[in-house]
Amino acid sequence: MADTQNKETCTHNCSTCSANCSSKKPESLIEPQNEMSNIKRVIGIVSGKGGVGKSLVSTMLSVLMRRRGYNTAVLDADITGPSVPKALGVSGEVTGHEKAIFPLKSKTGIEVMSVNLLLQSEESPVVWRGPVIAGTVKQFWTDVIWGDVDFMFIDMPPGTGDVPLTVFQSIPLDGIIIVTSPQDLVSMIVKKAVNMAKLMNIPVLGFVENMSYAICPDCGKKLNIFGESKLDAIAEELGYDILGRIPLDSRLASLCDKGIIELLENDYLDSAADAIEKKFAE
Ligand code: ADP
Repeated sequence: MADTQNKETCTHNCSTCSANCSSKKPESLIEPQNEMSNIKRVIGIVSGKGGVGKSLVSTMLSVLMRRRGYNTAVLDADITGPSVPKALGVSGEVTGHEKAIFPLKSKTGIEVMSVNLLLQSEESPVVWRGPVIAGTVKQFWTDVIWGDVDFMFIDMPPGTGDVPLTVFQSIPLDGIIIVTSPQDLVSMIVKKAVNMAKLMNIPVLGFVENMSYAICPDCGKKLNIFGESKLDAIAEELGYDILGRIPLDSRLASLCDKGIIELLENDYLDSAADAIEKKFAE
């Protein structure tokens, strides 16, 4: 009989037992962080598809929280489109020993690990299959000595497929922020991401809308390039806050391209940083 286990034959080892008894606990797939790391809070930055601005939001938040005096880190889990090191101006050889490697640091001390830092050339494509990508991300968590980190931001793989799912399951996220843009199929994409987080019991901290609008350089008028945002209605329906709206801003693109995002001067994500600080800072 498969659904109950006889008391006398129970080995108390649920992981190898096929019985479906009521006391059986679901096996956690969460991986421990490296024993020499001391990461306090982990926030996943999620989007329904690539190119929405996840890396931008991850790096901007790491910069803003660093400015507030916290030790921050960015784990770039968007393996196929890694742009975090470039925006933070981080390059060079990763060092380590046979058991672990060390992240690189930006000018203001933000720790960074990305597959781009491990490639021979940053133009090399990553042509790996899903399980290899997911395994690499897990190793960025388990085999990197991160040191003391108050807030780690994870630039998550886009979408709700196999790779993001594995990352969700293996890294203990304290919360996620969902990044959307007005031209997204917002309602569907946001709900998918929210449902995935609910399934994994991870709190949704709120939404950030990127490429929300643009300011006309001549007359200063606010232009809704991609049409009216539908995010307010969705946020209200789902009961979450909109933590920030980032306009299309050529200065931002230029700061990322030049690797000097740490010099950013705008308040687009100040409320997101406030929300993180309020929720997590002791
Ligand atoms: P994702 O991580 O979602 O794939 P990125 O953050 O890498 O997206 O953004 C894709 C590109 O678009 C980057 O080159 C970035 O600099 C640019 N970009 C993103 N958001 C903005 C914005 N609001 N204004 C200007 N450029 C932006």
